[in-house]
Amino acid sequence: MMIYRLKKIKPHKRDELLQWIQVLNARSRELVLRTPNRALRLGKYAYRLAQKSCCEQGRAFSLLMMGHANRVLSNNIQVIQDVLIAEQIFEDLEHQEGKMRALNLLGISYFYFGKYEQALTYFSKGLVIARNIGDQFIEATILNNIGEIHRQMEQYGEALAYYEQALLISESLHNLTNIAGILLNMGHIYNRLNQDAKALSTYQESIEYSRELDEMILLGEALNSIGQIYEKSQEDQSALQYYMDSLSVLKECGNKFYRIDVLVSIGKLFINQNQDQGLAYLHEALLFAEEISAENECAKIHLALFTYFEAKQDFAKALDHYKRANALEKKLRHEKLEEKLNLLATEFRVDQMRKEAEISWLKNIELKKKNEEIENNSRLLTIANQELLKLHKQLKKANKRWKLLSTIDEVTGIPNRRCFDNKLKREWNRCLREGKSLTLILLDIDKFKLYNDNYGHLQGDNCLRKVAKTLSSVLKRSSDFIGRFGGEEFGVVLANSDYDNAMEVAEQLRKHIEMLKITHEQSSPIPYITISLGSATITPTSNTRLEKLINAADQKLYQAKDRGRNQVCAVRMF
Ligand code: GH3
Ligand code: MG
Ligand code: MG
Repeated sequence: MMIYRLKKIKPHKRDELLQWIQVLNARSRELVLRTPNRALRLGKYAYRLAQKSCCEQGRAFSLLMMGHANRVLSNNIQVIQDVLIAEQIFEDLEHQEGKMRALNLLGISYFYFGKYEQALTYFSKGLVIARNIGDQFIEATILNNIGEIHRQMEQYGEALAYYEQALLISESLHNLTNIAGILLNMGHIYNRLNQDAKALSTYQESIEYSRELDEMILLGEALNSIGQIYEKSQEDQSALQYYMDSLSVLKECGNKFYRIDVLVSIGKLFINQNQDQGLAYLHEALLFAEEISAENECAKIHLALFTYFEAKQDFAKALDHYKRANALEKKLRHEKLEEKLNLLATEFRVDQMRKEAEISWLKNIELKKKNEEIENNSRLLTIANQELLKLHKQLKKANKRWKLLSTIDEVTGIPNRRCFDNKLKREWNRCLREGKSLTLILLDIDKFKLYNDNYGHLQGDNCLRKVAKTLSSVLKRSSDFIGRFGGEEFGVVLANSDYDNAMEVAEQLRKHIEMLKITHEQSSPIPYITISLGSATITPTSNTRLEKLINAADQKLYQAKDRGRNQVCAVRMF
């Protein structure tokens, strides 16, 4: 089943298509009473259009259109089949107006099948929607239709009550066609209740509206009904007059179906009056009935003809008509049964479709659930990804920190040997490029082994930290650089600083450590922590090497130690 597969088309295209289908729909409604076949073709065309574009709303409206046309063409099974589907689509789309129209048409069709209870259910549901959405036109129509059911069930009081309600609304809407129709129905009830005066005046009122509107069929029916009242009260002349009027009105509008009934009435009336011209009317009626395959009417006419010929004692003709009437009645009974079976089959089919639709709906739900699960999972995955990204960032940060840490000496918190070597190399190259002087100072804590031995390793570490911190604080220029060279030895790089300048810095370093006055009783010449420094200054050239500078500084350091420690020895290299 295609009903529930909704392929998405662009909203504006869907709107355009719907508008076009509405136009076809309106045209079909215009044509439906006069040329139902054309109306049906339009409906089918609209249906194909909607189906091609998978426009469910358009499809449902087209099915309604086809339903109306088939209703006029008396293809009642088809009406029910199409409109049941339309109703289901409107239900799914929650399209109240469409659903209401479908329910009304279903009510009418079930009414035709004599399934009054079912019809009443549809009408009642339609009525609730009409009232909810404030569609008074349909409300009045449905109220009248419910009245018709009660009339068929001979519940005349109820029928009249519904007609009255419908009439009230139609009057407020100035819907003259509805008023004329409702009055006609009310007239039928008064007629049945033998309230002839009331019936006559009601029919007359209906006639006035019909004349005003040129509603020929309504007019013809009202005139015919008045004729029947007069015939009932044996005022044959008046009856005949009304029948004739009715006949000419129906002839004018070209309607054959309603004319049959009138022709039969006239025929019978003449026959009752022993006037043979009645036979011609009956024959004409039979002709029309056969022409439009109105078999029910045919059977009735054959029975009337049987009565006529029987009275005339023309038994051969009488028998012939009796047989025909009998055969037709049998056929009709058979057809009615078949129709009922067909209806059952149709209802069963539509029910199956609904079940299939329900299954596909359930499947859709399952699919939706799965989709939701997938969406949920992907949401979780996104969150996980975000977490991962965060972790990655943290890791990066940690790595960076670790890298930084790996350039920092853990004990003293100043750059380690590796970092120092790199910096020294870079500064060497920079000074080489820029032709600037470079100083390397290597310094070593005096008698540190003894310090450790005396005060313990932890105290030794503390001392190393204090020394490193103090040395760092002495270096003021951003280009000055200090690192732990190894053990209790430190290196200082002074870029762009000449020999004297370097001497001064070295002396400052020495002084500051001395001034710390970290007790070191076994040190000499003073009982405090002191340092010895070897400084070498060079202006790097392509002929000189960094190692030479390092060796020179190292040698000067040894010299300072040799000379009694706590002093600076320096060299200017060329
Ligand atoms: P000198 O004046 O000739 O330099 O004598 P010194 O005792 O300082 O020299 P030596 O090379 O004999 O001893 C160096 C000592 O430095 C040995 C070692 O215990 C100590 N030392 C090296 N690294 C560390 C350290 O990270 N922490 C501590 N607490 N001591 C260290
Ligand atoms: Mg030492
Ligand atoms: Mg040493």
